[in-house]
Amino acid sequence: MPTASPSIRGPVSATQPSGCVLILDADASRVLQTSANLPEILGVSVDAALAEGPGRLLGHDLARRLRRELQGRQRLPGALSIKRRVAGGLRSLQLDARRSGDRVLVEIEPLIRQGKRRLLATLNAWLMRLAAADHPDELLDSLVAGVADLTGHDRVLVCGFDANGHGAVVAERCAPGVPSFIGMRFPASDFPPHMRERSDVRAAAVPLIPALDPCRQTRADLSTSLLRSISPEQQRYLTGMGVASLLSIGMHGDGGLWGLVLCHGMAPHALSPAVRDAALGLVQMATQRLFLLRARSEARFLQRVQESRALLDAELSVPDTLLRRHGDNWLELFSAQGLVLVMPEGNGQLGQVPRTASLALLVERLETTHHRPGPWVSQALGHEPLTSDLALDGACGLLAVAFSLGEWRRGWLLLFRPEQRETYAWVGLPDSGLEAACPGEALPDEQNLLGRLFSQWQEEISGHSAAWERIERLAARDLAEQLAVVASAQEINRLYCSLRQEQQALAEANRRLEHLAHHDALTRVWNRYRIEQAMDAELTAAERCSRPMAVLLFDIDHFKRINDDHDHEMGDRVLTMLAREVESTLRGCDYLGRWGGEEFVVLATSSDLDAGLGLAERLKQRIGAMAIPGLPCRITASFGVAAWRRDDTRKSLLSRADDAMYRAKEAGRDRLEAQG
Ligand code: GH3
Ligand code: MG
Ligand code: MG
Repeated sequence: MPTASPSIRGPVSATQPSGCVLILDADASRVLQTSANLPEILGVSVDAALAEGPGRLLGHDLARRLRRELQGRQRLPGALSIKRRVAGGLRSLQLDARRSGDRVLVEIEPLIRQGKRRLLATLNAWLMRLAAADHPDELLDSLVAGVADLTGHDRVLVCGFDANGHGAVVAERCAPGVPSFIGMRFPASDFPPHMRERSDVRAAAVPLIPALDPCRQTRADLSTSLLRSISPEQQRYLTGMGVASLLSIGMHGDGGLWGLVLCHGMAPHALSPAVRDAALGLVQMATQRLFLLRARSEARFLQRVQESRALLDAELSVPDTLLRRHGDNWLELFSAQGLVLVMPEGNGQLGQVPRTASLALLVERLETTHHRPGPWVSQALGHEPLTSDLALDGACGLLAVAFSLGEWRRGWLLLFRPEQRETYAWVGLPDSGLEAACPGEALPDEQNLLGRLFSQWQEEISGHSAAWERIERLAARDLAEQLAVVASAQEINRLYCSLRQEQQALAEANRRLEHLAHHDALTRVWNRYRIEQAMDAELTAAERCSRPMAVLLFDIDHFKRINDDHDHEMGDRVLTMLAREVESTLRGCDYLGRWGGEEFVVLATSSDLDAGLGLAERLKQRIGAMAIPGLPCRITASFGVAAWRRDDTRKSLLSRADDAMYRAKEAGRDRLEAQG
């Protein structure tokens, strides 16, 4: 590929022969310079124009109107049509004027007859076609066809610029026999900054007289003039392409020049200003519609990403589940071959991605180097200092976007693209093209110098993935934001779960502690402390409602012998089995507690002394009937029963029961005694 060819140096202050140019002072009251072809276009000599001023040259009415309409304006609101007698005939001319610094630039061009009605009808028909186009390709095809129809050029093409300023021919309409440029690329360096209309590319430039501004001795600035002459370099370039006439119209978007509509004529081809304006209108309309269609397709893309985000809203998932549910959709949306989700729970991955060790290094490096908001993107990982030494396993492009997981941690969404091999067909000046050409040298007369001045070459593009479009970068950022929400929700959920587990464990420990505090560890019946509490509560209730209650105190007879004759474990077994037996005999409203050692207490609610004695008798019999495995003898117990009396305290009630039990022991055991 050739290196950049030199751009045009210095202002060109000569004009094309198809019209004439006047340079007036800021008040439009003095003619400072005119193009040398004034006599041919206006029928007035240069000397007369310079000597007599705009009033005599243009007519006083027109000169006054010019001054009035330029007041406070950069440009006339619209071109003016005038008639002049030139060489014995009446000539229709178009006059346009604009300010250029503190000079007024007047351009006068002959109007070429063209059926105005037909022009409007044609323009309208094409405008309708453009308005109906629903796809950019269809739109651009209609545009080139419409412009070719309006202007009659042999080749009309749309050249779109990429980020580097290189042009690619994306739509074209050619007359039969005219070589096509479709799909070809033009190096950025080959686009002169001011390519405008050139009705005859090879026509000699017309100089300004005097050559320098008489007040300042500088060259006039004709950069905004439609009639500005073509530089020798451009002339050589266009001739090299076989182009004899050119109309170039910019397609401007918000981001600057999006592309150019280039109209080529294989022969000199003069255009009426009306036709030129019609073509301009068509291009403007197409440009607006193109951006509208692009905005619509971007909106559709964003909509799909939004839908994917909306699904995430409802989810709390680990990376693997997220990828299982959404991964294929994300791969398709971002035209990626693989993706990795780096989250606190670990990495999830889908499709073709670099191996684990490289991924870990990649994320580590991104963590330390990429702190700006927005994604880190690359189309050529093999050429990036960050990744050139990693085993990339076929990944060539990467869009990496971080998402916040609290103050210090970040997760990553990594989208990988494969290499995209392409062959670019370039058309442009070879390296030596401009250097070798002498600016003053007369151009050879051949139509097409493709072989000598102009070259075509191919470039194999490798080591690059498809570009990450602006809209894709934005969408990835949106998605990452949503992932941050999901991850945070997940984190909160995790914290909440572990908090709940801790709470449950704490409650369980409390329950166990409470049980320990209130129960006897061996027999699992209430301990002395708890049965005392229950007794106090029952005493209060008995006091308040005069409700009867009885207390049974009983002690296993000769228990020491069981321990002694067998072992302590047998003693424990007896205690435990006895507790179960007594529990199963009691009503739900009676309470059993271990008073200490082999001594138990029963609190029989709503029971008077008789009921208490009845219960004691039943218990005595059940205990006596118990068969303890391993114990050859039966066990017995001695019972003391006391019933509540008004003004009883726990102590007084228990003391009566204890006395009674003592008496039962004294009286020979295995019996019951009531309070005295
Ligand atoms: P009495 O008929 O007069 O009640 O005679 P006794 O042998 O039952 O009474 P004593 O007070 O002489 O002995 C009670 C024994 O109970 C003493 C102690 O080692 C035993 N003991 C107390 N608590 C436990 C226990 O939890 N497990 C076992 N295996 N033995 C216990
Ligand atoms: Mg005992
Ligand atoms: Mg005892």
